[in-house]
Amino acid sequence: MTDDLNAPTAELRDIAPRRWQCCHCGGTGVDGYGETCEHCEGLGFC
Ligand SMILES: [Zn+2]
Ligand SMILES: [Zn+2]
Repeated sequence: MTDDLNAPTAELRDIAPRRWQCCHCGGTGVDGYGETCEHCEGLGFC
């Protein structure tokens, strides 16, 4: 049987701090060239 329909509230997980992810490197802290992101200085968020 599959009772996964009543899985725990996924909304809580959706509140992950994605809003802090850098809009330039996506939160990796490194840009597409392998250099430290100039937008977040390698922090990964801005
Ligand atoms: Zn950014
Ligand atoms: Zn960045």
